[in-house]
Amino acid sequence: MSGSRPNSGAKGRALPGDYHVHTTFSDGTGSVAECIEQAITVGLPEIGFADHVSSVQPSPWETPTIPFARLERYVEEVRDAASRYDEITVLLGIEADYVPEHEVQLRALLTDWPFDYVIGGVHVVDDFDFDDPARRHDPRWSDADPLFAAYYGTVRRAAEFGIFDVIAHLDYIGLWGHTPGPAVDDVIGSSLDAIAASGAALELNTDRISDPAGVMYPSDELLRAVGGRGTPLVISSDAHAAEHVGQLWNEAMERAVTAGFRGTLRLSDRTVVPLPQGP
Ligand SMILES: [Zn+2]
Ligand SMILES: [Zn+2]
Repeated sequence: MSGSRPNSGAKGRALPGDYHVHTTFSDGTGSVAECIEQAITVGLPEIGFADHVSSVQPSPWETPTIPFARLERYVEEVRDAASRYDEITVLLGIEADYVPEHEVQLRALLTDWPFDYVIGGVHVVDDFDFDDPARRHDPRWSDADPLFAAYYGTVRRAAEFGIFDVIAHLDYIGLWGHTPGPAVDDVIGSSLDAIAASGAALELNTDRISDPAGVMYPSDELLRAVGGRGTPLVISSDAHAAEHVGQLWNEAMERAVTAGFRGTLRLSDRTVVPLPQGP
């Protein structure tokens, strides 16, 4: 890792890095180099790549993944970029699909590769790949509470699994615009407790452009609840195109401050860096 140019926000403080970026290695459209160039343009001090990987291939669901045969090339390309850019720190991450039944395979996969960090992403619950557009009008959404409960129960298990550095897009189950009823409150609370106990960071995910619900993940209410438990925060674009790296950063930082966060986690050295504050 190398380099630190004076990327800064208000009052000269460094902007948070973007650690959740997808490339053509999985379902993104940008190359590693294009995403880095965009991060430099935005003024980010760090970028981390986190393409999807499923630990069981072919996946039983419509989940995007780096094919096992391409993982070595992915690692090489990101590592090579890290050595070529002095003006930005480039990290090698991964967004691992968390499925409780595949924990053994996932643990084995992650120990085989030198990732700087691992993001845990829940995209399937109860055998239902809820983010597949083909599932948007599935009859199971007519009673969404069981899906929400299954989702947060799976997030809790992901945290308890204990190997994720960051939990991705909490509240993602609401991407089609559904909201949980009060019956789900307890399992939501227990999932937040499990994340806090695990030491993982949570991300404020700004990828509202590509999802119909049009919101960042998680909601302001959940963000406050997460911060109140002492969980560290990262801000992530979840970019699937180079031009989305660092998108909506100012709004995300404002939301984080409003929710009570004073800093975000810098993954290169696991240090909490103060958020730029307004006047
Ligand atoms: Zn994801
Ligand atoms: Zn992602």
